[in-house]
Amino acid sequence: AYVITTACMTEKATDCVMVCPVDCIEEGENQYFINPDTCIECGACVESCPAEAIYHEDDLPAEEMQILEQAKLHFSIS
Ligand code: SF4
Repeated sequence: AYVITTACMTEKATDCVMVCPVDCIEEGENQYFINPDTCIECGACVESCPAEAIYHEDDLPAEEMQILEQAKLHFSIS
């Protein structure tokens, strides 16, 4: 799945929400989150993000790994 990193916190643009074909991006308290269970890995959101905040989970910087856990919590995925 793709992951929206903390770079989203200052931007909170909604471009990704509008381009996602499966509607799996939701607003959280401080930033937007991608549902890792329903993301089809199309990559459309990556191109749309003005903050360049979106990475594939395999390319996540180490300090951003906790964001994937936060996304799972947001969508109640254990
Ligand atoms: Fe949505 Fe595609 Fe981005 Fe996954 S990679 S969140 S399906 S736009």
